[in-house]
Amino acid sequence: MKKIDRVYINGEFVKPHGTKTLVLTNPDTLESIGEVTLCDKKDAAFAIKCAKDAFKTFSKTSIEERAQILQNIYEAMSRREDELNAAAVMEYGSPITATRGRTRFAKNVFLTVKEQMGRFEFERVLEDGSKILKAPLGVVAAIAPWNANYTHICQKLAPAIAAGCTVVFKPSEYSAIQTQILCECFDEARVPKGLINIVNGIGEEVGSYLVAHKDIALINFTGSTKVGREISKSAAKMIKRTILELGGKSANIILDDADLTSAIPNALKIAFSNSGQACHAGSRLYVPKSKFDLICELLVESLKEIKIGNIRDEECYMGPLVNKTQFDRVQEYIASGIKEGAKILVGGLGRLEGLKGYYAKPTIFTNVKPDMKIAREEIFGPVLCLFTYKDEQEALRLANDTIYGLAGYVSGTDLERAKRVAEQIFAGWVYINKGVYEGKGVIPHVGAKQSGIGTNGIDDYLQFRFIS
Ligand code: NAD
Repeated sequence: MKKIDRVYINGEFVKPHGTKTLVLTNPDTLESIGEVTLCDKKDAAFAIKCAKDAFKTFSKTSIEERAQILQNIYEAMSRREDELNAAAVMEYGSPITATRGRTRFAKNVFLTVKEQMGRFEFERVLEDGSKILKAPLGVVAAIAPWNANYTHICQKLAPAIAAGCTVVFKPSEYSAIQTQILCECFDEARVPKGLINIVNGIGEEVGSYLVAHKDIALINFTGSTKVGREISKSAAKMIKRTILELGGKSANIILDDADLTSAIPNALKIAFSNSGQACHAGSRLYVPKSKFDLICELLVESLKEIKIGNIRDEECYMGPLVNKTQFDRVQEYIASGIKEGAKILVGGLGRLEGLKGYYAKPTIFTNVKPDMKIAREEIFGPVLCLFTYKDEQEALRLANDTIYGLAGYVSGTDLERAKRVAEQIFAGWVYINKGVYEGKGVIPHVGAKQSGIGTNGIDDYLQFRFIS
């Protein structure tokens, strides 16, 4: 049992004022693996004060000094990479191969942002001598969910540091072991006191306190659309800047000229990535009516190829859901699909046989009507809804008939046509003939509609000023 009874505030691991504890469970084995002491509002207030004090000096540091900090964090994470991976496998149930990719991506963010910062124009002098200045905004409150813990933390921290802001971070309380190792990396990287302050705690208590605090200049939130709405309301009282990276219900259109031997296995990977606990999961699949039977067969066959369960095996693609709450939530959605008249092609209610943890059955529904709950709401689990369309226009109309706009996917062999369709999917990220972006570092994080108000990086942490 790992005991996490210290939090990283002001460059030190300190005992929190909060006394409530949460037991951490390995979702694969259901063993208790740790206990975290949760912060309370007093801890959050202390963290904000430290970040505010640190801002006075950190906001004046040079680009070279900030570049060194980004480099040092990258190096510290590289040294502890195996431990970071082991913690994510144990605490989150994430299969090892995917875990390695995400940790690598997370640490690379520091290098990519360092490069971007080197080219960044913090000041521009106009022909008449007027100046556009970009000054660090202040203390950033960052709040993240339990999926992809390292990615969320690093993607929020790196541009804030580059911009000269200090940060109070509330990660998910379910990621406390992963967060603890990351904090040790920050400490080993000798980041300046008060630059990064981490408070483990409950969202309704600590998260909402950060959001409403007068000394917070920017809120950078990743999580559900429901909580995003509450944060928006609270932030509006002080016209605070917000970056909101919210939920999704992304569409995947298989065009009639797609190579089904690759498009269908790919569609399953897109839907079931991270066991479906991915904001960008392609959970609505649109296929030509004429190919429905063939595609159903291919889906069932391709699903057999997806390895589930032995999460330390290099070949494993799917692990358990993160906790009982998430497992129960997914079961409720499957039950609601059945009740509303959708048909189960494969999967269904209950746990996967032979596995101990929170393993939901990967489930594919057919006969789904666009107004059913499973078609409209984000499930955040391995549930795929299959729809048919008559022609391209109908496919696009159905794909865009959602409150969300996070991601979209298109498969087809005529690339010009696939690009034309991709450009008409109203979403932040759209991928043609592939899964999600796995490159090195940062891309704009720009959900559309109720998937949020995205970010384009360093600019969002700066106050533009015009001096003439
Ligand atoms: P959540 O919204 O329940 O919680 C996210 C974070 O917000 C947690 O740290 C939680 O403690 C905190 N929180 C909860 N209530 C709060 C409040 N009232 N005020 C301030 N903070 C509060 O989400 P979750 O269940 O942890 O994560 C899953 C959700 O995250 C899904 O909807 C998923 O799509 C979304 N997500 C989005 C992206 C993206 O980039 N758009 C990425 C990953 C996850």
